[in-house]
Amino acid sequence: TMSRTKQTRGPVAPLFTLEGGRLPIIALIGRPNVGKSTLFNRILGTRAAIVDDVPGVTRDRNYADSTYRNRRFRLVDTGGLDPTASEGMLSLIRQQSQLAIAEADILVLVLDARSGLTPADEEVVQTLRGSDKPVYYVINKIDTPKADPLVADFYRLGQEQLYPLSAEHGIGVAELLDDLFSHMAEPLDEEATSDTPRIAIVGRPNVGKSTLVNSVLGEARVVVSNVPGTTRDPVDSVATFKDRQYVLTDTAGIRRRGRVERGIEGYSVARSLRAIGRSDIAVLLLDAEEGVTEQDTKIAGLVLKQGRACILIVNKWDLKTDDVHAREAYKQDLERRFPFLAWAPVLFISALEQDFLRGLFALIDQVYFSFCKRVPTGPLNQFFQGLLEEHPLPVRKGKPAKASKSAFMTQVATRPPAFALFVGHPDNMTPAYLRFLENQIRKEYHFSGTPIRLMTRKK
Ligand code: GDP
Ligand code: GDP
Repeated sequence: TMSRTKQTRGPVAPLFTLEGGRLPIIALIGRPNVGKSTLFNRILGTRAAIVDDVPGVTRDRNYADSTYRNRRFRLVDTGGLDPTASEGMLSLIRQQSQLAIAEADILVLVLDARSGLTPADEEVVQTLRGSDKPVYYVINKIDTPKADPLVADFYRLGQEQLYPLSAEHGIGVAELLDDLFSHMAEPLDEEATSDTPRIAIVGRPNVGKSTLVNSVLGEARVVVSNVPGTTRDPVDSVATFKDRQYVLTDTAGIRRRGRVERGIEGYSVARSLRAIGRSDIAVLLLDAEEGVTEQDTKIAGLVLKQGRACILIVNKWDLKTDDVHAREAYKQDLERRFPFLAWAPVLFISALEQDFLRGLFALIDQVYFSFCKRVPTGPLNQFFQGLLEEHPLPVRKGKPAKASKSAFMTQVATRPPAFALFVGHPDNMTPAYLRFLENQIRKEYHFSGTPIRLMTRKK
């Protein structure tokens, strides 16, 4: 395929900087049956969160928040006109377009190549001409190159740039999105790049998540990204602490509940899952007095399954300060209940006091560094060969020395770190040996708070 030039071909508009972090609204308009809802679904793919509780909107519209190349937008499908209501159709269409013009920031007019330009289309175009908002003209149902001539009719509109595409087959949709890109909202914070650690604060109800988040937000400079009027969207907060930035993922449920209606809905497992999914590091809160519960284990399991870094926080430690053996006892309990998280550092704190913040953020930095760390292949193999001299690879038959001599290791991924171990007979490797190797790698390279993946490959 041709490489696309980067200049904007559609209407030129400045980057949106909307108050209160509001997302730019892109509305799909057009008469019934042109393929608006097909395009709506095609653009969203599976990434969208359907927003169904925007106040003051009519029921027959679909709203969804989504991202494209890391920029964010809200998409509206203005559908909902009854195509059989031929009576007054033109005025209905006019009304609907006016509504879309009023509430959207960018308009995408969808036209149907197969039926050509109809009077209803012309009506919408007329309405649009009165607005100063950018309009993109989509010619839909161009399923094959053979259908290209169908586009010609639409040049009557006098638009220089048309977007022929097939919503159904996904052809040409990326080109449209590329040009809509300039209208979309920047990521949460301009400086919050992919290098900014994303942190999920998780734990069962009442362990102190909102207390902790409020302590963080009270101390750090915080930009909260908020989509007004929605309760289902994830809300992330960007916190700056000692000149470094951190994104706290999905803080919506946590912060809101803290002050008002604590304990009513609980912090669901689904919510934890979503927060963890959007993060690099899961900070899992536990209760000092109640010890490790079944629900804690479930959430810890989610962290492990998603391959995220993890810090364990035992909160409400102010209630345990008299007990000199409490810390050791709790650590032992953790080792027993979370053997699979043995690598996660444990912090004993009281979220009610602010003095844990420095320690917590230092730990987050350290863990994030490990999570992203890459060990060069040369030194890694020097280390590995040294290990093999004392701990040769397990063998079933043949000579250990020979098996070990040709073995080789390389780090194949970060976030979390993953290592591939190339050996002559992968079947011979035992879980115990792999565990041993993992521990040695952890020790040698100071990996802390991150899972490490180790896979064997046939040489
Ligand atoms: P809406 O009323 O504008 O929301 O239109 P729909 O999305 O419901 O689509 C109307 C009809 O057009 C449906 O039967 C779709 O399957 C069909 N359609 C939508 N997009 C395409 C396309 O790209 N190619 C073809 N051939 N049909 C399409
Ligand atoms: P969440 O449901 O996990 O968000 O928990 P909250 O932050 O709402 O806290 C639940 C209860 O525990 C509240 O009554 C808090 O005041 C209390 N709490 C939170 N952190 C601490 C702490 O460090 N020490 C003590 N003693 N109580 C705490």
